[in-house]
Amino acid sequence: MSEENFWRPIVGIDLGTTNSAISYIRNGKPEIIPSAKGELLLPSVVLIDPLGNIVVGKDAKDALVAMPDRSIAAVKRKMGSLDNITIAGESFSPQEISALILKELKQQADQMYGEGEKEAVITVPAYFTDEQRRATKEAGELAGFVVERIINEPTAAALSFGLENLQGDRTFLVYDLGGGTFDVSVVEMFSGVLEVKASTGDRMLGGEDFDWRLVDWFAEKMISQYGVDPREDIRGKAALKEEAERVKIVLSSETSVSVMLPLVTVKDNRPIGLTAEVSREQFISLIEDLIVQTLERVTGVLQEAGVTANAIDEVLLVGGSTRIPYVREAIRSLLGKEPRSDVNPDEAVALGAAVQAGLKSGLLSESGLIATDVAPFSMGIAVLKESVSVRARPGGFAPVITRNTTIPVTRSQTFYTSAPGQTAVSIEIYQGEHEWVKHNHFLGEFMLDGIPENWENYEGIKVTFRYNLNGILEVAAESVSSGKQMSVTVQDALNRDSREVFEESARRLQKLWEAVPDETDADEDEDLDDWDLPPGELDEDDGEWDSEEDDLTPTLAHEDGRILAQRGHNALAVLKDTEQKKLSQALLALDEALQGEDVEALERAMEATTDLLIELEL
Ligand code: ADP
Ligand code: MG
Repeated sequence: MSEENFWRPIVGIDLGTTNSAISYIRNGKPEIIPSAKGELLLPSVVLIDPLGNIVVGKDAKDALVAMPDRSIAAVKRKMGSLDNITIAGESFSPQEISALILKELKQQADQMYGEGEKEAVITVPAYFTDEQRRATKEAGELAGFVVERIINEPTAAALSFGLENLQGDRTFLVYDLGGGTFDVSVVEMFSGVLEVKASTGDRMLGGEDFDWRLVDWFAEKMISQYGVDPREDIRGKAALKEEAERVKIVLSSETSVSVMLPLVTVKDNRPIGLTAEVSREQFISLIEDLIVQTLERVTGVLQEAGVTANAIDEVLLVGGSTRIPYVREAIRSLLGKEPRSDVNPDEAVALGAAVQAGLKSGLLSESGLIATDVAPFSMGIAVLKESVSVRARPGGFAPVITRNTTIPVTRSQTFYTSAPGQTAVSIEIYQGEHEWVKHNHFLGEFMLDGIPENWENYEGIKVTFRYNLNGILEVAAESVSSGKQMSVTVQDALNRDSREVFEESARRLQKLWEAVPDETDADEDEDLDDWDLPPGELDEDDGEWDSEEDDLTPTLAHEDGRILAQRGHNALAVLKDTEQKKLSQALLALDEALQGEDVEALERAMEATTDLLIELEL
């Protein structure tokens, strides 16, 4: 690999359900890039105004009440789905809407760095599926970023903290309660290596739900008082929602708050309003069960990580909703530990993304910090499953990579033919935790043929799964006796026409952006085809099954190899002399293999290093 001879800025992005933020490394420290107006957080709301202009952020959020059918909030909840979103009569995919948000953030970066290509690290909740991660990556590319990496939000939060606190080994619990998502993770830091030990969460739980609990409470009051349900009037509902959030936020610092809305809805042409007093206790009673749900997840994640509450050294609270005093108290009493108060809950994730960006670009390579992550789901294939009472049934799930395995990871397992004379097998790939594949999530499939005829159970098929830090899965199958191979990259297997869809989206969005008279887009009418399409990878593969020649791609193997090497080098410091020598040797071989193009040699070197790291319990 040659040294890069050009420099491309790299940024970190928290693409939140409620708020988004972009950050960069300045003087060795992560910092938020403010908007032109000096704001650090960008509400993740998109509006198409009556003139056809795209408005993103606070102005769009303010217009939610007045123009509900022209605006969209919380699109993150739809990421990875095929749902279309109609705003102002036009239909958009979730990634297109997210691209509009990301483009707004990109303009903040453009202001600072000038226009031109930028790389980005974007965060997602730990439990996002492959599809959701891919949709996020695509949104970044549509916005004109080269998406360097997708990382988990709790990893990012721990990274932002880790940079300041490198001394010593520690175990963190990251509790992230945002507007629309909840995430809790156990993160371990060991000699500068950050590793997520376990992670769980709830896609449908966050501050928004607290707002809706208040809205329902307001509505009940109005129903009993006037016999009118304000939620049936879209504007009434929106007005109550806005007020609910205000009330909730005030209650984080005050013990009670008054509500006085003269007009919420109308009945018989008469305005109906709302007057109420909400105390902190009242609010807590409305949301308590939801907080208890999060606490159950905390207990669960500790179990999964195999640690007790006592073993947690630091509790990091991130996400705007952790500003609610009751949340902090509940966590404190559950864990018997005071959460850190030097973490900015709104910024930690974006700052951590910038740290990851800095580690990648070399700006922070002196820090000695490395991040690894875990697979959020088990991944494996469909097999015949033995059962006690009946004959073996198809549709059993055999995990090859199990949930919470540290990634990047390559795992192989050998399976056997199930019928006499069988010469082909269908490899059906699933992710999930259920023992039957029909309850899991289908990722793709391919056929391996050329298996020599033989008795059943005689012919071995070696199945290799490689899962990298971007959540991209490669699956290869090889007939052990004939050596015949097939492989597939699940990213492409899933969505064969994604390239066309992507280009169509790119063109559509470009038109929308062009429609906005915006001085920053002066040179936009250049070549449309050139327009910010990501380099390489989408071009290369049209989703057809790979043949054996281009088995596991060199780039991925090299990327994974480099991370492993970094991890190994980092571990050297903590080893005894003899162990150090062993590891140095393995690393030397790995470094050498990384210089070359021989993927198989590289794989061997990686395997040897991994084995050694496991043996040394690192
Ligand atoms: P997300 O990660 O979903 O984008 P954030 O971490 O930005 O969300 O958190 C946004 C949520 O935090 C919103 O529901 C907002 O109402 C809530 N929030 C922000 N500040 C406060 C506060 N002081 N007290 C209570 N909730 C707050
Ligand atoms: Mg968040």
